[in-house]
Amino acid sequence: MEPVIVIGAGLAGSEAAWQLARRGIPVELREMKPQKMSPAHHTEYFAELVCSNSLRSDQLENAVGLLKEELRRCGSLIMACADAHRVEAGGALAVDRNAFAAAITEKIRNHPNITVVEGEVTEIPAEGNVIFATGPLTSENLSQAIGGLFPDSKYLNFFDAAAPLVTFESVDMDSAWFASRYDRGTPDYINCPLSREEYEAFWQELTHAQEAEVHGFEDAGVFEGCMPVEVMARRGLDTLRYGPLKPVGLKDPKTGEEPYAVVQLRKDNAQGSIYNIVGFQTHLRWPEQKRVFSMIPALKNAEYIRYGVMHRNTFLDSPRLLDRYYRVKGQERLMFSGQITGVEGYVESTASGCLTAMELSRRLEGKPPINFPRETAMGAMALYVSDPSVVNFQPMNVNFGLIPQLGYRVKGKRNKNAEISKRALEKLAELDLG
Ligand SMILES: Cc1cc2nc3c(=O)[nH]c(=O)nc-3n(C[C@H](O)[C@H](O)[C@H](O)COP(=O)(O)OP(=O)(O)OC[C@H]3O[C@@H](n4cnc5c(N)ncnc54)[C@H](O)[C@@H]3O)c2cc1C
Repeated sequence: MEPVIVIGAGLAGSEAAWQLARRGIPVELREMKPQKMSPAHHTEYFAELVCSNSLRSDQLENAVGLLKEELRRCGSLIMACADAHRVEAGGALAVDRNAFAAAITEKIRNHPNITVVEGEVTEIPAEGNVIFATGPLTSENLSQAIGGLFPDSKYLNFFDAAAPLVTFESVDMDSAWFASRYDRGTPDYINCPLSREEYEAFWQELTHAQEAEVHGFEDAGVFEGCMPVEVMARRGLDTLRYGPLKPVGLKDPKTGEEPYAVVQLRKDNAQGSIYNIVGFQTHLRWPEQKRVFSMIPALKNAEYIRYGVMHRNTFLDSPRLLDRYYRVKGQERLMFSGQITGVEGYVESTASGCLTAMELSRRLEGKPPINFPRETAMGAMALYVSDPSVVNFQPMNVNFGLIPQLGYRVKGKRNKNAEISKRALEKLAELDLG
């Protein structure tokens, strides 16, 4: 059998290659790293997490928790490695990013059905089945080639920001404490309190600090989930205190009271030697990040492993171009997976890679397609992305709004969501996931 060409060994591409290979289908996985790195990728590993080390909620009352569970049931490599390398993060699934990516890389490289070919792909392969999983930072050459496939359409884009990482030993633990909000679960976060005066001085500097130049940047183009902290701060003096600096449920053991504002740090590796500043995606200039963030007392001498950065995030106008299996309408040998399709986030990208590969395997085996129903998170996302009635298409995190309601009343939002998840998993169980 001719190998399926998968371009890009990120989250979507690694998952797609794995799903094909485990069904006996040969795969040629083409990845430009380490010869060429995107502005956000830094290691030679596959499935590199470019920003947060959190894959978000792991609970079935949350849509991304449901998506994870569906992926586990589909035999997902990404989920298996995430579960194996998790670090404590309350109800979220956060991972030791390097151990996680190293485990995926090893599994992929050692699979007998996968051949890894290094180097940038610059043209559309002329023959065979091809999955493009080159992500939001698809290299310029390939981006142009993809653009040529759709002369009547255009790429869409917005901006994404990444938060800085600091070393644990540089955090002043005399000014901070470990706890989870409302003391629920294990005390996984470092909480850095600010008094009213400290908060207002910080806000003042943050809203006036110098930003790095990002060509063509407009506030309107920023994805809400990745909004730079300085952009959010400019919305009002208290906006951050209702957002990432919310003090609710965090009592300072020194005073027994909730501080005026709290910055939280989340563990970024299993050893706990690196932490990320939660919600501090930013595109301030690096010296400005150091200056302004050092106004947070516990971070006054923080040592930065990586500063926050901002990048263009490119995606297709998928509702007009792709079908529910992420195939190009009218050119079904070409498929797209991951963030480039307009699904947003690590788990969503993984899920689209998984679905594309499962569907392609079925086709190659001469079987009818698997139609993930709209009641499942995987199905709902694919149907949204390929829905031609969506006019102003924007990247989308998975959410319960994409899934049909139950049709009967359940008291309380959490109970209702749990019931929707239960129905989704029952529907999934009816499919032949082979
Ligand atoms: C700055 C930034 C911050 C982000 N922060 C978060 C976050 O905190 N949480 C979250 O859930 N999501 C975040 N995202 C979104 C994130 O990119 C996706 O969730 C996820 O990485 C997408 O997976 P993917 O497989 O589609 O692409 P990627 O994981 O980016 O993988 C694409 C792969 O393709 C390779 N490639 C690109 N072009 C070529 C080529 N021409 N030839 C060969 N190989 C190529 C790349 O090297 C890369 O390995 C962020 C994105 C950016 C840009």
